[in-house]
Amino acid sequence: MVVVKANGYGHGAVRVAEAALEAGAHGLCVALVQEGVELRRAGIEAPILVLSEQPRDQVGELVAHGLIATAYTVAFIDALADEARRRDVVGQEVHLKVDTGMNRVGARPDAVVELGGRVLARSPQLSLGGVFTHLACADDVASPVTADQIRRFDAVVDELRHAGVDPGWLHLANSAGAIAHSDARRDMVRVGIAMYGIAPDPSMDAMCATLRPALGLVSRVSFVKTVNAGESISYGHRHRFDRTTNVATVPIGYADGVPRRLSAVGGEVLIGGRRRPIVGVVTMDQLMVDMGDDRCAIGDEVVLIGRQGDEVVTANDWGTALGTIGYEIVCALSARLPRDYSGETPSDTQ
Ligand SMILES: *Cc1c(COP(=O)(O)O)cnc(C)c1O
Repeated sequence: MVVVKANGYGHGAVRVAEAALEAGAHGLCVALVQEGVELRRAGIEAPILVLSEQPRDQVGELVAHGLIATAYTVAFIDALADEARRRDVVGQEVHLKVDTGMNRVGARPDAVVELGGRVLARSPQLSLGGVFTHLACADDVASPVTADQIRRFDAVVDELRHAGVDPGWLHLANSAGAIAHSDARRDMVRVGIAMYGIAPDPSMDAMCATLRPALGLVSRVSFVKTVNAGESISYGHRHRFDRTTNVATVPIGYADGVPRRLSAVGGEVLIGGRRRPIVGVVTMDQLMVDMGDDRCAIGDEVVLIGRQGDEVVTANDWGTALGTIGYEIVCALSARLPRDYSGETPSDTQ
């Protein structure tokens, strides 16, 4: 299953889902009922797994739209079964989530047999479609935590089978698990970041060499001027020019998902096939770029993430500079940005 929560990691959930299903994905994973409903409203009929228990006031929508539920408490299993009965639904699918060490959500391993029994007891309204867990350290390839989580998961599955419960589909792996830990692949994997062509962690770059980023972030120069030595720029005048230089303004800012702090950590964009530093703080709707002695014109392409000529800037480059990960960068790309799915980069069309 491909993970399209957070608007498809900023890429646009519906279009990503359609492309992934066409390419052979079995189904989709989302974090929230509303994300599943958006996919259903777009006409997507594939299986959609909601990855954690949901607030009680969302259970009606979950059942009504035929989403697969995740459960890890008796109370939530009962709420699902009651809702299915009210709506005359038979076979509402449930996956049990077991916490093997992430300590975010999930049942303790010693509670899973009881939960499996509860799902069976609430048949035919409910059916047990799978049992899963989530890996905490899969992107740290040398960490012993992953093997330990797999071992705990296997023990839970054995116990369920001994108790006469068919666990259904078994799944543990996120992108890092699927790529780096073949033992975590099982009946399916839940792949998010890797499908978008982004390594889960820069330390996995070599293993991810064949991934190609699905997304580029491109703007165009909106204004050009020469700034004199001794002048300063942007809010707070935090950057002062020590020589006369050409400055380009680009109409994209933190309201679009370009972090305000990016200039302070050496953030660069590509103009004219070369890396150029962002100067001064990124403002809500615009940022400024130091062109040095080079010239550019209004309308020139500015690549913030992606390739131009021989140069590349990746989401993980921003993440590393900002002390975060590529995930956070692409998820923050806001609704205001127009998304183009033609598959052509602006440079291709020039
Ligand atoms: C977000 C998420 C994933 C996908 O993780 P990636 O690292 O993006 O592949 C898989 N499973 C669960 C439970 C998640 O929350």
